[in-house]
Amino acid sequence: MIVSTSTAAYLHLPFCRQRCFYCDFPIAVVGHGAPLAFSGWILEYVEAVCKEIQTWQSFPVQPLTTIFFGGGTPSLLPLEGLSCLLDCLEQVFGWDTDVEISLEIDPGTFTLPQLQAYQDLGVNRFSLGVQSFQDSLLEGIGRHHRRADIDQAIDWIYQAEVKNWSLDLISGLPNQGLEDWQRSLYFALTAKPSHLSCYDLVIEPNTAFGKQLQPGTGPLPTDELTAQMYCLAQQTLTKAGYHHYEISNYARPGQECRHNQVYWHNQSYYGFGLGATSYLQGHRFQRPRTRSAYYAWLQQWRGQSGSIPGETVSATERLLETLMLGLRLAQGVTLPALTSEQQKALFKALGSHQQRGWISLLDAESQPCDHPQALHHLQLQDPEGFLFSNTVLTDIFNCLTE
Ligand code: SF4
Repeated sequence: MIVSTSTAAYLHLPFCRQRCFYCDFPIAVVGHGAPLAFSGWILEYVEAVCKEIQTWQSFPVQPLTTIFFGGGTPSLLPLEGLSCLLDCLEQVFGWDTDVEISLEIDPGTFTLPQLQAYQDLGVNRFSLGVQSFQDSLLEGIGRHHRRADIDQAIDWIYQAEVKNWSLDLISGLPNQGLEDWQRSLYFALTAKPSHLSCYDLVIEPNTAFGKQLQPGTGPLPTDELTAQMYCLAQQTLTKAGYHHYEISNYARPGQECRHNQVYWHNQSYYGFGLGATSYLQGHRFQRPRTRSAYYAWLQQWRGQSGSIPGETVSATERLLETLMLGLRLAQGVTLPALTSEQQKALFKALGSHQQRGWISLLDAESQPCDHPQALHHLQLQDPEGFLFSNTVLTDIFNCLTE
């Protein structure tokens, strides 16, 4: 009998106007025509995701505390579709009275009445994909929206009296200078969101950019410049009162994204829909990335009642994931149980990073730790430790897998 204690659910809504040049997410391009109708393959997709959710209805489950609609561009899904998915989640899992329901929305893909209708359905957190405030940079990364769409979107967010919303930016864009980034941060602060995400552009191999651009070389900013952008964001946003609670995320106190914290704490979560990952009872599973393969998998899996999809995550993988995800958080991570050899190896490997001021090694009383056996908690320092987190994480990985 499966008994799930997870209380977080991610649902993937894979519709986008066009594919951005840096994007390797599983999406379907729907073009620039009229708003999507709740029929044809859109209806078929929502029905498939509902069927996947319904596979849980015969098992003991907990009410959800966080629900996240990501994409893709969830604001392209007709309201009836979102309503069906929420009804289905409520019937199968139910949710807490203070559930966080997040929806990603892109400028130019929603209206004020639509935003208000989302709120009526229970959505209480929005994530606005601005990425940049400059039209030339937006055009250069293949985004469909422009500055005028952003201003309109923010105006509607205010008219709808949305209290909990994130403004998402990307740094390190082609032809982006430090002044451009400074301007984006300035306009972002002017909008007064309760949360900001600032991700550095990643060049994925199977994207238009992956085929054209080389990280660190023009028109992409140099590594030195992207580091300056990171530090500028850290200084500007913390000075404005935002808490830098995760490597790439800032929030007004108490308005951190609860759903994403489930991932960073390496806790379990449901994933539903194309390409979505779930992590349940020690099993991690990523669903197929194309619609036909997802439907075929779903049909096959529904036939195997009583199983959880995916491979078991080994104890070593779980340990490494807990450290690597937990170190993304400003609060750091308490070490899981380690052997005395592992404690010694970790203490030695991180000593030089501690001297550089990148990481704090702490004992159980949160005091600086001067002995391997007393090592209890690790915390990256902001901003240098976050900036060089890859180096620290590589050393942790090497010393725990040797
Ligand atoms: S809008 Fe987001 S999901 Fe869609 S193509 Fe662009 S980056 Fe990818």
